Amino acid sequence: MQLAGSKVAVVGGDAREREVIAALAASGAVVSAAARPPGEPGATWCATVGDALAGASALILPLPGVDVRARVHAPLVAEQFFINASDLERLLPGAPILVGTARPCLSEPAARLGHPLVELAEDDELAIYNSIPTAEGALQMAMERRLITIHDSRAVVLGLGRCGTTLARTLAALGSHVTVVARKPADRARAFSLGLAATDYPDAVPALAAADFIFNTVPSLVLTAKLLALTRPECLIIDLASAPGGTDFAAAERLGREAVLAPGLPGKVAPVTAGRALARVVLARLTAR
Ligand code: NAP
Repeated sequence: MQLAGSKVAVVGGDAREREVIAALAASGAVVSAAARPPGEPGATWCATVGDALAGASALILPLPGVDVRARVHAPLVAEQFFINASDLERLLPGAPILVGTARPCLSEPAARLGHPLVELAEDDELAIYNSIPTAEGALQMAMERRLITIHDSRAVVLGLGRCGTTLARTLAALGSHVTVVARKPADRARAFSLGLAATDYPDAVPALAAADFIFNTVPSLVLTAKLLALTRPECLIIDLASAPGGTDFAAAERLGREAVLAPGLPGKVAPVTAGRALARVVLARLTAR
């Protein structure tokens, strides 16, 4: 789609969407915003969701999307905003809806009304960009919670996907002794190519037992009570995986280990950078249509 002259609705979201609004406006789009604070540069503020959607060629929702009651994620405003079928009817025919993940209360009316959904939660490009503020946020937490440097620390990174790769590489760049735990031989080969130690889960015990920091990126239970019991009392566990994480948090508490689930770091630690990445991907997905 051609952005110049098209109306694009941005509904809800946090500081990241400010960057999206700015980028859309810079591309010549006419941006209408709802469920956001009034007065944001580049957007015409609308009091209702329906007004923002009226005649829009595309709808941008925040990555967390809407809850089970179709309430839009809108942390910058006190009022609650909902999005329903009668709002979606006001979009232009065939207008795409971009969102992190669409719940049925959004996807069902969208499908019925012929609005294609573009779900960004598993967008590889966006996930790789987001792995950068995620890794930096994890490092910030590690530095704030321990009295040792990352340099010369012993760190274990569980999983070598998008977050694990960026984090392991960044830890190593700061002088940490990093061991990657990955189940795929190719991922362990990748870790080796990055100059990192790598092991499979059955052989991870020595690295886990020696670790100052354990960072989990695996969205399945991998840090079991049995493995946690082998860790040092001083070890800090930062779990980056989506809730409920990959750590047995109850066991960690029982054992007296500090284990923290750390969701949503890009928007918390670097909303401008994360917003620029989001804007880049949103504009690319819109102009490709
Ligand atoms: P990813 O690229 O899919 O990486 C996931 C890693 O977990 C892969 O190495 C994968 O290995 C491994 N894995 C998955 N299931 C496994 C299992 N049962 N046993 C062992 N390994 C397993 O995902 P990502 O983009 O790095 O994101 C990782 C997690 O962090 C996700 O839950 C994501 O939602 C979350 N996240 C959090 C933040 C934050 O701010 N905290 C930011 C971004 C993402 P295989 O290839 O072998 O499956």
